Amino acid sequence: MSPNVEQITKPAGLGEGPFWNAQKQILYYVDIINASLHSYNNVTKEQHSVKLAGDGNTVSLVVQVEGHHDKFVVSINNDIAVVTWDGVSSKPSSIEIIANLEGNEEKTRINDGKVDPAGRLWAGTMGPKKETGEFVMEKGSLYRLNKDKTVTKVIGKLGIANGLAWSLDNKTFYYIDTLKFRVDSYDYNISTGNIANEKTIFCFKKNNIDVFPDGMTIDEEGKLWVACFEGGQVLRIDPDTGKLLYTLKIPAPQVTSVVFGGHNLDELFVTTARDDYKKELLDKYPLAGCTFKVTNLGVKGTPSVPVKL
Ligand code: CA
Repeated sequence: MSPNVEQITKPAGLGEGPFWNAQKQILYYVDIINASLHSYNNVTKEQHSVKLAGDGNTVSLVVQVEGHHDKFVVSINNDIAVVTWDGVSSKPSSIEIIANLEGNEEKTRINDGKVDPAGRLWAGTMGPKKETGEFVMEKGSLYRLNKDKTVTKVIGKLGIANGLAWSLDNKTFYYIDTLKFRVDSYDYNISTGNIANEKTIFCFKKNNIDVFPDGMTIDEEGKLWVACFEGGQVLRIDPDTGKLLYTLKIPAPQVTSVVFGGHNLDELFVTTARDDYKKELLDKYPLAGCTFKVTNLGVKGTPSVPVKL
């Protein structure tokens, strides 16, 4: 494998939540701290964005609504919303809140989410940052949005709810709580959306990898690709053996998430953050916050799954 890593978008503050629309060949992603939704056309290279909330709010996930190219489910702070956007305009046509995960007493916010193979949205929350820069522990939870728009809390006491993926046979759910520094797996019941039997499949500390595991996707061989925040890399992990298979270097330290796309689903899109970088770090990492496209990986991914509403 000799991959080619190419910067494809302008820098975001905190780029995240990449979603691939195969029919339109468009990558969607969010900038969490600028509360905005972005598109990148992989054919024409056109880029557009739309702000969904004012400063101080967060937008941390985007998924397409099944059957609608102009409808997206996003998170805004602790709410789940349906946004109608033509993909070009600087304003959305509408924003409709359809569910709320948590109240605001604990100052949590939604941080990451994805759709399971049956079309259900999953979204997780995280606690606020303390003045010391550390995150408040065990304030996050992972939720499932049910077909009737009710919400079920599935896991509690999380640090930073992050990467999600489902195995190719739909029988296993892979999950990352960043502050546990590991990838866990659960037995998955695709008909009920219930999980059971937590196991750790990859521990970063035991592998002497000192990074924050973040977003995650799965390829057509059932191997996981894990974005490493403060690691400048994406890891390919075999969930069955717990072995690290490959390390992909990215020219920005704060790697946040990954998704496969392109005509053959063999291109990996990687989002990153620049967040609170000052001059010194920006001089060192001028591409921080940009989205990258990685080609020549020799691996195909799995399609992004739209949400059924
Ligand atoms: Ca994340």
